[in-house]
Amino acid sequence: MALSITEACINCGICEDECPVGAISMGDEYFVIDPNKCNECVGYFDQPQCVVVGPVDCFLDANGHAFHLQY
Ligand code: SF4
Ligand code: SF4
Repeated sequence: MALSITEACINCGICEDECPVGAISMGDEYFVIDPNKCNECVGYFDQPQCVVVGPVDCFLDANGHAFHLQY
């Protein structure tokens, strides 16, 4: 199961360094997540770190729905 990034990405680059498995990189127009690497941070963090550090709502869950953090 992997998250994905939408065109709402503002290319801040913050999430790239926070991903524990190196799944995030700059794409053609905005940052992208490698679905073969992203494991939704299981075993590393309680919640996906890219979403935690991201300044805008630019992430989708594995079903293509906006990802919301659990509090
Ligand atoms: S959910 Fe975790 S593993 Fe997946 S891209 Fe975001 S930081 Fe990386
Ligand atoms: S944190 Fe969000 S806005 Fe910043 S590069 Fe990552 S996906 Fe794009």
